[in-house]
Order: sequence, then structure tokens, then C-alpha cells
Amino acid sequence: MSLPAGLAETGLIDTHCHLDAAEFDGDRAAIAAAAATAGVTTIVVPAIERANFGTVASICREFAGCVPAYGIHPLFVARAREEDLAALDDTLRENPCVAVGEIGLDNFVPDRDEALQERYFLAQLEIARQHGLPVLLHVRRAIDQVLKHLRRIPVPGGIAHAFNGSRQQADEFIKLGFMLGFGGAMTFSGSKRIRELAATLPLDSIVLETDAPDIPPQWKDGAANTPADLLPIAETLAQLRGLPLAGIAAATSANAYMALPRLKNFQHNTQRGKP
Ligand SMILES: [Zn+2]
Repeated sequence: MSLPAGLAETGLIDTHCHLDAAEFDGDRAAIAAAAATAGVTTIVVPAIERANFGTVASICREFAGCVPAYGIHPLFVARAREEDLAALDDTLRENPCVAVGEIGLDNFVPDRDEALQERYFLAQLEIARQHGLPVLLHVRRAIDQVLKHLRRIPVPGGIAHAFNGSRQQADEFIKLGFMLGFGGAMTFSGSKRIRELAATLPLDSIVLETDAPDIPPQWKDGAANTPADLLPIAETLAQLRGLPLAGIAAATSANAYMALPRLKNFQHNTQRGKP
């Protein structure tokens, strides 16, 4: 299979996609195939709790180009147990993966235990540091808090997924060795700040993501997002920056490899379409 026109040799990397989500249970194979047809050569699938570590691992074995990350999401800490942290540590030791994630802090949801979120976040930063792994960050209304913790527990960078902060906060992440993830939110003309950042941040600090099935782009009209939507998302970024799609694909793929160096260990798995 050849890549769509304009994607040059690189293809696109979806740095954040919940391909294991129940929404995809009926047609996961078709959705993975559609992503491949759209030129998405690699899909990073972050776990959200211990209960789905096994599902994420098996999906990444089953579908070419899918690579796992393991972690406990801030919205799932209420049902996590202390021993899940030891299970995470074991999972990282025994399974190939590209990052610890999805982890972070979420001060957006009304019903939350901030102290518990913080405890799991700090413990997982420490685990990531010990394993020498980057992190995939979920951050809502907590950017400065997350930055503060990252300064205290230095991890080898990673990605601030679905970045929605200020230019100054973006610069702080970049100083700490992080890339910023842009996806569906950037496709809405009303998302002025996100579009301004996508257009003006240094291109070497941007990676692409869908967060499928969440954050549907403007053209989905609220329907579930899929990893194939990464192609029109990349086209949106190309338009915002006034660059050809090939340039966006090459730059954002190179950035993903910088942020997640272990992607190269999966290359045999991501060479889609090669005979
Ligand atoms: Zn996510």
C-alpha cells in the first residue's frame, strides 16, 4: 500500500489514540485499516488504568503500527489501588512500550480527589524516571501544577497531550523537553488560542494526535473521532502554518520520534504496506 499523495515517505503518527476504547469494539479492524489507508503509519495507544493494560498490549500486538504506553489516568485514580503502581512497574519491565501514560492532573471535572490524583501522578513520574521513559500527559486546568512537579521529578520529556494553555506555558514545557500535542480542537475556527499556537509555535515542538474516540474534529459533527481523521487534522495544521502537507508529516513524525525514542524499536511493526 502506498501513502496518500503529499505524505512523502514519512506517513503520519497519531501520538494519542484510545484504539482499545469500547466505542471501537465492533469495527476495530476496519478503523485500523482506514487509518493505514489515510497514511497513519503509527498509532500510540495509551492505557488509562490497570484493568486495560492487557487489552492495550494485545491490540498493539494484533494491529500493525500500534504501540503501547501504560499508566493510570487522573480520571481513573478513584478506582485504582496502591498495588496498581507495582503492577505498572512490572508491566513496564516486561512489555515493550514507548512511554508512561496516560497520566496527569485534571481540575476540570467537578467530582475529583485532587490529593489522590496528585499522589498517583507523582508516583508515576517517579516510575517513569526510574525506567528512563517519557510520559504522555493529560492536563486540564492544572498546567502550572504539572510544570512544578516536572521540575521536581525530571523525566526524559514526553508529550503534553491536547495542549490548551498559553504561549508562556507552552514555552515552559518545551524548556523541559516536551512536545505539545495538537488535534481535533485545532480544527474549530472558534479555537482562536489553540489555532494561534499551532500556527506560531516552533514546528519542532509539535506532534499530532486524534485522542480518538474523543475530541471529534469539526467535520465529525459530534460523531466519534477515529485515527483516520489524523490526515485532515494534519491538513489543518498545514493550512494554519502555510506549509505543504509533506512538510508537516515529516516534521511531526520526526518530533514524535524525538519525544518517544523507543518508537524506533517498533519500526518492524510500523512498516505498513512493505511486502
Ligand atoms: Zn487520552
